[in-house]
Order: sequence, then C-alpha cells, then structure tokens
Amino acid sequence: MTDGPPWLAGGLRHIWLPYTQMKTVPAPLPVTHAEGVRLTLADGRELIDGISSWWTAVHGYCHPHIEAAVKAQLEDLPHVMLGGLAHKQAYRLGERLAALLPGDLSRVFYSESGSVSVEIAMKMAVQYWLNKGERRTRFLSFTGGYHGDTFMTMSVCDPEEGMHSLFTGVLPKQIVVDLPTDGEKCAAFEKALEIHGRNIAAVVTEPLVQGAGGMVFHDVETLRRIREACDSHGVLLIADEIFVGLGRLGHMFACEAAGVVPDIVTLSKALTGGTLPLAATIACEHVFDAFYTDDPEDALMHGPTYMGNALACAAANASLDLFEDEPRLDQVRAIEAGLRGGLAPARDIPGVQDVRVRGAIGVIQVEEMRALDDLKRRFVEAGVWVRPFRDIIYTTPPYVIEKDDLGTLTRAMVEVTAAWAREVGFA
Ligand SMILES: *Cc1c(COP(=O)(O)O)cnc(C)c1O
Repeated sequence: MTDGPPWLAGGLRHIWLPYTQMKTVPAPLPVTHAEGVRLTLADGRELIDGISSWWTAVHGYCHPHIEAAVKAQLEDLPHVMLGGLAHKQAYRLGERLAALLPGDLSRVFYSESGSVSVEIAMKMAVQYWLNKGERRTRFLSFTGGYHGDTFMTMSVCDPEEGMHSLFTGVLPKQIVVDLPTDGEKCAAFEKALEIHGRNIAAVVTEPLVQGAGGMVFHDVETLRRIREACDSHGVLLIADEIFVGLGRLGHMFACEAAGVVPDIVTLSKALTGGTLPLAATIACEHVFDAFYTDDPEDALMHGPTYMGNALACAAANASLDLFEDEPRLDQVRAIEAGLRGGLAPARDIPGVQDVRVRGAIGVIQVEEMRALDDLKRRFVEAGVWVRPFRDIIYTTPPYVIEKDDLGTLTRAMVEVTAAWAREVGFA
C-alpha cells in the first residue's frame, strides 16, 4: 500500500520506473508543485532540491522568464516539423549556441534526449569518414564514462562499472581505456590509438567530470592531452557536455575551461533549464563540410520527429537569456565556495573516503554504500532531496540556490551521513 493521492497508487501498477527493481522499490514521493529550489509534496512538506531533477533545473523551478516564454510560444506555435518548415525559436537558438560555443562549433543538429544526441554524434563521426572514403567502425572511450542508455551509447559507457554490463557481448565492441591522467595511462591511451587509430571514428569523452560514473573529476591537462592525441592520430573528438555544459563547472562549457575545441559537442540536460526535453549535437565546420557536397548520398540521414520543438527551443532561448542577464556563473562560483566549506566536516566521518567539490557539484564518497533506501529516506526526513547512488552522496543544486538554503543542504548532507555511518557500522 502507498500513502498519498489516489493517482499514485493507481498509476504505480502501470508506470515502469527508471533504474528500478519494481518489486522492492519504496513508492516514489508525489510532487504537486515546484518553485525556485523547493519541491512541494502532496502532503504539504517541502524539500530543498539538491539534485535539480537530474541536473536540469539550473535556474530553479517555474522561473517566470522561462514560463512566460513557453506560454507565449504555446499561443503561437507549439511545434512544426523542421523538414521543409522553419521557426524562429530553433533558428535563433542555433545561432546563439554557435556564438557561445568555442571555436567553429557552429552546425547545430537538434534531438529530444541526451542519449539520442550522442547517437547522432557517433553516426556523424562514422559518416564523416565514409564521406571521405574511409571505413572506420569503432570508437574509443574511457572507463568510468557514461553517455546514455541507447544501444550505441551503452557501448561507449564503462563496460564493467557501468549499469550496462549485462549487455556485454550484445553491444558493439569498442576500445575502452583509462583516462590519460598519468604517465602509464597516457602510454596505454597512445598505444590504443596507435594500434586501432585507422579504425577509430572518434574518441568519446565527458570533459572534466564523469557524472553518472560517480562524479569523478580530472584536470584540464588530461582533456588537452586527449585533444592533442586525437589530432596527432587523426581521429575526431566528441565531447559529451550533457552534464557539465551550460555552467555547471563555472564556465559555460567544460571544454572552454580547458581551451579545447572538440570536433563535435553534445548538450542536453540544462539546455531548457529543466522545463522541456531538448538536445543538440553541434559540429565544427570541417565536420559539416564532409557532408556538404553535390552528392545526395553524403547527406546526414537523420531527423527525429520532434527535433527543434518550438516550445523546447523557446525555453532554451529563455534559459540563455538568464545566463546573459543574471550572474549565473558567479553564482556557481559562490556555490563552489559554499560547498567546500559546508561539506568539509564530512571528511571526519568514519566511512567517508573522499569529499570533493568542483563548480556546483559537491560529493561525499563513502567506502561502501550500505542501506541505500534507508539513507535516501533520512534525507527526505531532513527536508532535502538528495539521491545517493553507487558510493557517493552528492549534490548538484540549482545555480540560483541562496546561501541559507545551501547551508541547510550541506548541513543535512553532513549530519545525515554522520548518523547513517554510525548506524550502518562504520567506525
Ligand atoms: C544524462 C547523460 C546522457 C544521457 O542523456 P538522456 O537525456 O538521459 O538520454 C548522456 N551523457 C551524459 C554525460 C549524461 O550525463
């Protein structure tokens, strides 16, 4: 039995939940309203959101500027197909993304989800080589990486640690090596490129932070090294900025922070500020040029039905307005300082292995996760929405979170982790 409104119990028999063993899962919490950084539950309780709905709601919920833009767009035109028809929101957004992204990343292909945008990037890379008369069938990616849940993207996720290990043997076999963070790993990465280089269409990487793989950070030199190696071995670089892009690390894009221009970039999560699904695959001019010929066969044969949806693009344009008009990147830097101070006491908790912060990402890593559902419940009781997974208790708050709320959030993270660690027997 579940408490809560009747629609919850009624729907729960039919809704198949994400990443969930349905037999043992506790009922999800019914949310009836969300505003700013607060979620309101059906029973009237409020939670401070430390996750931003899978890293999307960077301006907070129901931001009036985004709301107004979507409402106005709905009056005019919710959607038209991008084949043969055009609308202002998608075209303006493309121009704005091109202006914001580093280098000549300037050809924007829309889709509706992150995974699909990575699929498109990979398809682009393979066809880039085909159009140049080369057949390259494989990708190189990194351990700890995550790029989506569709089949081709699963093949470039971490093969063992990832959530897709069940499908090993079914997925296309890619080349997966450690990120080149030290001498030995650099050598292994270079070697893999030497051996397989002519058969690799692209290297796929999450720049600076591997998110779903456990919020693991690497430095700008590592990313630069990857770019240089791709250049010297003549393979394309796909930077999956779906998580880190659009301000999360205190720069608009992670690649920009490293002074690196990838050949193809993917964006999604924060693109519409958490209001509507939208993703983009953005290519450099030289990638686009391989498709820009007199041969119809050289065209990119792809076109998601809802690509460039007008409501979603209106939300994304409004979100970019907010990055222009409000001090979002400064806010992220202030959050970074708040997380550093607020989470530091967690270092002394038994069972805590690491505490780390980068931009608006704060992580308490434990030696081993125990009693996960119990831990999640404790956070709700403490009035915050924090969803630990793997071996981490982390937060990715909306960029607009105020100092007091951030303090409440980090205090809850430290106190709940301390009480939990005591009770599950870390000493
Ligand atoms: C979330 C995520 C994806 C997948 O995006 P979906 O919209 O869930 O398909 C891909 N890559 C990275 C880095 C992500 O964080």
